[in-house]
Amino acid sequence: MLKGKCPKCGKVYYGWALKAPRNQFCNICGLGLEITDDSGETITGYSPFDAMEYKVPDTDKTRKSQKT
Ligand SMILES: [Zn+2]
Repeated sequence: MLKGKCPKCGKVYYGWALKAPRNQFCNICGLGLEITDDSGETITGYSPFDAMEYKVPDTDKTRKSQKT
């Protein structure tokens, strides 16, 4: 069983659904969860807010190159 804990508000999520990236962030804060599996290994969950930040510069470059 997987256990995911929000580093900000401390809410804990349980279940294999945490394997899916869309379930790896806190419903309240939107932060990536600290997910622990049976072996005690901890991974940081996917956060849609982090992903958006990384995508912004790419989109801007693409737009500029399309104009010229
Ligand atoms: Zn939270």
